[in-house]
Amino acid sequence: MLNDKINGTIVWLKCKDCLAEYPTFIFSGDTDMATSGYRAYTSIESKKLFLYSMPEKLSKGTQVRLIRVDKAKPRKGEDFQAYLRRANNAKPVYVYKCIACTEGRSLSVKCMTTSELVKSGYDVVYE
Ligand SMILES: [Zn+2]
Repeated sequence: MLNDKINGTIVWLKCKDCLAEYPTFIFSGDTDMATSGYRAYTSIESKKLFLYSMPEKLSKGTQVRLIRVDKAKPRKGEDFQAYLRRANNAKPVYVYKCIACTEGRSLSVKCMTTSELVKSGYDVVYE
């Protein structure tokens, strides 16, 4: 949680192709994005994570777009019940379009708190 109004998680991403690393912000499921209007944009150049309260304020950074969520796939010869158990325990992998090389695929490396993000050199900016 960032403040009273914004619930969600800072996620650190790494591109499989260009190896760029940067954060994004995932709003939690109970935040109604349509009414809250919040948007998260990332600027690698200025090392800032922008959280915009109004869409008309969007000016800096790039929106990190989710492409797909990978879930565990059945393995060859695996019993169906065993697969279901494994799939239910496995964390889904979130795959994003890389904002650095624009062609690559970025995967979530870890979740972090605001202070951990600041320690890694980024600022969180509310606009
Ligand atoms: Zn990349």
